[in-house]
Amino acid sequence: MDGPSGSGKSSVSKGVARALGLRYLDTGAMYRAMTWWMLREDVPLDDPAAIAARAGEPVLVSGTDPAAPTIMVDDVDVSGPIRGPEVTGAVSAVAAVPAVRERLVALQREIIGTGGIVVEGRDIGTAVAPDAQVKIYLTASAEARAQRRNAEVTGATIAATQADLARRDHLDSTRKTDPLARAADAIELDTTSLGLGEVIEEVLRIARKHTADADGDSARQARSRAGEPPTRSETSE
Ligand code: C5P
Repeated sequence: MDGPSGSGKSSVSKGVARALGLRYLDTGAMYRAMTWWMLREDVPLDDPAAIAARAGEPVLVSGTDPAAPTIMVDDVDVSGPIRGPEVTGAVSAVAAVPAVRERLVALQREIIGTGGIVVEGRDIGTAVAPDAQVKIYLTASAEARAQRRNAEVTGATIAATQADLARRDHLDSTRKTDPLARAADAIELDTTSLGLGEVIEEVLRIARKHTADADGDSARQARSRAGEPPTRSETSE
């Protein structure tokens, strides 16, 4: 599940994972945790070489229960602090450093393992898991995204939040390494006028269809390998 900030990825991904009994991974939280650690270590964040030199140090552990996702850095629970303005303001610069991405993408692939997981981010369908069974790209209007963010984090005006989202979208979609992008085979869903429950239902419908299609394909292939004739429904397709 990819898409820009505020498109509803987190709530939708968690809801879909819970409905399907799958694990859940928030890759944005990993980039935020790396940024939190760099800030704590006083690494100059305007110096990509300095960031790259230390990107291998922090020990990151992501909990994948969609009902209670967690993120620890060097045994510190940073779930709260990574949502603060300091980390939000700096994360896109840290996420643009290739050494950071290399390390976190490797960790993400380790966690994904053989699958059974809903993963949200910016480059999941294009770079982290190009073979994912179902790819969704969520979008929403700039106004809707800013309103949703403000409902989560109070204190800023809608205009300020919208400006911050635009700034991050720009940085995330113009960086050289694995920018925010819709995979060619991702299904795009505009959530501007949909409620959370409606988006989750739509994603579940798409997931069911894709899985049924994939199961149908492998059953067909198995029958064809065994030299069996196609079923009547296959010949009528
Ligand atoms: O999703 P969230 O807003 O928490 O992500 C924070 C930041 O982490 C994004 O703005 C982006 O810079 C970075 N990110 C990324 N690749 C991902 C997920 C997040 O570069 N797969």
